[in-house]
Formats: sequence, structure tokens, C-alpha cells
Amino acid sequence: MAKHNFSSKRNAIYDMVCSTDTHPSARWVYEKLKPDIPDLSLGTVYRNIALFKNEGKIRVVCNVNGEERIDGDITPHSHFICNKCGNVYDICDKQITSDFSSELSGTGYIVESKFILYYGICPECSEKKIH
Ligand SMILES: [Zn+2]
Ligand SMILES: [Zn+2]
Repeated sequence: MAKHNFSSKRNAIYDMVCSTDTHPSARWVYEKLKPDIPDLSLGTVYRNIALFKNEGKIRVVCNVNGEERIDGDITPHSHFICNKCGNVYDICDKQITSDFSSELSGTGYIVESKFILYYGICPECSEKKIH
């Protein structure tokens, strides 16, 4: 097995975050990488994720059950968070490209980023309710 140094761990963590659209938690990333990187610690994952956040490479979407959920996709898009299963979905949302931002800037507020979250029941969970 390949030996993992400091920067290759960093890359592995970043690649794992970007390889999924499930908006993982740090713990999820840790559990996925642990079999390949036996000496990886959860603290290392948290530290690197904090670093990526500061560098603007990833963003925090929301908190589900006390865990921060992160996104490697930093292009503007909205999210739907299921109150039942805790899944975080990317959703297509015209509101995100609306020009309310320019309306706001007319009142002195300069919008630098926009973040829209929807909470509810996802299709998978509402399906289970019917059956
Ligand atoms: Zn659900
Ligand atoms: Zn997303």
C-alpha cells in the first residue's frame, strides 16, 4: 500500500469531498478514506476541511443532526434538506439567478454570495409514507 504523507492526505480528503454529491460530513469522509489510509485521524479530516473552507475550495451547506455538511461544488445552487433522512440534495432553482441582488444593492446592501436552503421531505421519504 502506498505511503500517505501530509499533502497526499489533504488531496485524498479534497478529492473525496468532490467525488460525491451527497454533501458529506467530515465523519463520512473519514470513514470512506480510513480503509485506504489507516493512519488517518478524524481530527486531520476536520482540520483539512476547515482549511478548504478558509481557502474557499468547499462550502458548508447546513448542519444536520449536529454535523456540518459540506459541498465541493461552489457554483451557485440551492439545496433541499430532508427532515426525515437528513439527505442534502442539489436542486435547480431559478430564484438563485433572480436579480433581487441588484435590487438590494440599490438600497446599499452589496450581495457577495447567496444561499438558499429548503427544508422538507424528499421524494424517497414521501414515497415510503404512501406505501
Ligand atoms: Zn428523505
Ligand atoms: Zn450542493
